[in-house]
Amino acid sequence: IPVDPFDLVIFGGTGDLARRKILPGLFRRFRSGQMPEGAHVIGAARSDMDDAAYRDMVREAIGEHGGSEAKDSKALEHFLEHVRYVAVDARGNTGWDALKEVLREDEGLVRAFYFSVGPGLFAELAEGLRRHGLADAETRIVVEKPFGHDLESARALNEELARHFHETQIYRIDHYLGKETVQNLMAVRFGNMLFEPLWNSQYVDHIQITVAETVGVGGRGSYYDKSGAMRDMVQNHLMQLLCLIAMEPPARFEPDAVRDEKLKVIRALDPVDPDSIVRGQYTSDGTVNSYREDAENPLSKTESFIALKTYISNWRWANTPFYLRTGKRLSARASEIAVVFKDAPHSIFGIDAGRHSNVLSIRLQPNEGMTLGVTIKEPGPGGMRLVDVPLDMTFADALGPEAEEVPDAYERLIMDVIRGNQTLFMRGDEVEAAWAWTDPLIEGWQRRGDSPKPYDAGSSGPDDAAFLINRDGRRWRGVR
Ligand code: NAD
Repeated sequence: IPVDPFDLVIFGGTGDLARRKILPGLFRRFRSGQMPEGAHVIGAARSDMDDAAYRDMVREAIGEHGGSEAKDSKALEHFLEHVRYVAVDARGNTGWDALKEVLREDEGLVRAFYFSVGPGLFAELAEGLRRHGLADAETRIVVEKPFGHDLESARALNEELARHFHETQIYRIDHYLGKETVQNLMAVRFGNMLFEPLWNSQYVDHIQITVAETVGVGGRGSYYDKSGAMRDMVQNHLMQLLCLIAMEPPARFEPDAVRDEKLKVIRALDPVDPDSIVRGQYTSDGTVNSYREDAENPLSKTESFIALKTYISNWRWANTPFYLRTGKRLSARASEIAVVFKDAPHSIFGIDAGRHSNVLSIRLQPNEGMTLGVTIKEPGPGGMRLVDVPLDMTFADALGPEAEEVPDAYERLIMDVIRGNQTLFMRGDEVEAAWAWTDPLIEGWQRRGDSPKPYDAGSSGPDDAAFLINRDGRRWRGVR
């Protein structure tokens, strides 16, 4: 179903994110018919160039990052007719009038500005849009991560944005929420009778959330060194996943109903004991740089890995551990949420048959999908021996080649912006609550002067991370 016609301005339209994700995503939505003929995409950045030069850049970016669909050159050229460029300096006064000229005033046309620039420019852009008369009460703004560096800066940014835009106009991106499986998680939880009755501390032993990357911090080293895994991944992405796993059923699948429930989860999170946090930093394995080399900071104490155990103090989850883990330069690129159910209370088959627990595994990458581990009898005449088989709920398998058409997180979220649906975007109070939980943990290790534990590039992280879960009689799944 096509969305309404729109003018989408991408501030930072020449940047890495625009070239890798936003523009190829828009092209795919155009090709699928969802981005209508009446839509314009306007790149805006500091560089001086005309429409033709920008279209060349966009063509190249889509060719490189647009997947197989980019081979459809007829569609690509048609898409490019909808693309324009205006040089605007977010910090100064140049370009704003030209941008205003390009924007249309048609009735029913959605106007949105995507802030795909460094976070230092978010407030200035919001202010600039108002000052130059480019935004009214209907205009939407899309704000990239990071949203603040701590509670104080996030609050200041929220206040700054609120001076120019109402909360219903602000779309704070967390692209994890745009992933197909993440939404499927809500469908599975709230669209079935099967899971929700078991979805609590009585039946769930523990939950693991792992986001493992094989890449290092590479060219982003000096930026990353000021943030670390806690700020870069846990405060936003892992926190959002945790919310969707743990929240109460919202009364309706509507933006504030869902976000109210997520907020309650964050507010119920316990502070984390220092001995339940393991921070790590990758060292060189001879083939790649160490973290400190990548960060160009030989004394850096920033973590490129973190594992922690936390609890949610409410009726549903009291005493159920949530283990979170994320890191760079690990042995595999694998992101998974695992809901590990308790063992059956009594095995009628005896010890020899083996004991198993059910695990619902939600994979975010690679191969987005879900499996439910179920225990059955091992086939054959060997007596009653039990084995686990995965019940596959992977979208790709169910729908075959059509699944390739599943939109990437960014393109889905951009279409939600145009549709005016904020369900999959973070509300200002959610972001602040997440920082309010994160800040004391960071302050704690800074005050104690803790150093991250070294771990080998290509390993599963520091040994202490395994100990963190093994000492509870459990173990990490997947990346081990
Ligand atoms: P980038 O450095 O590649 O691009 C920045 C863009 O901003 C360029 O187009 C540049 O011309 C423009 N710009 C800089 N100063 C400007 C000014 N004064 N006026 C107008 N335009 C100006 O950065 P990026 O990697 O594309 O990241 C953009 C934002 O998205 C950042 O907030 C980043 O944290 C976030 N983000 C990026 C990624 C990614 O994969 N690149 C992922 C998640 C979030």
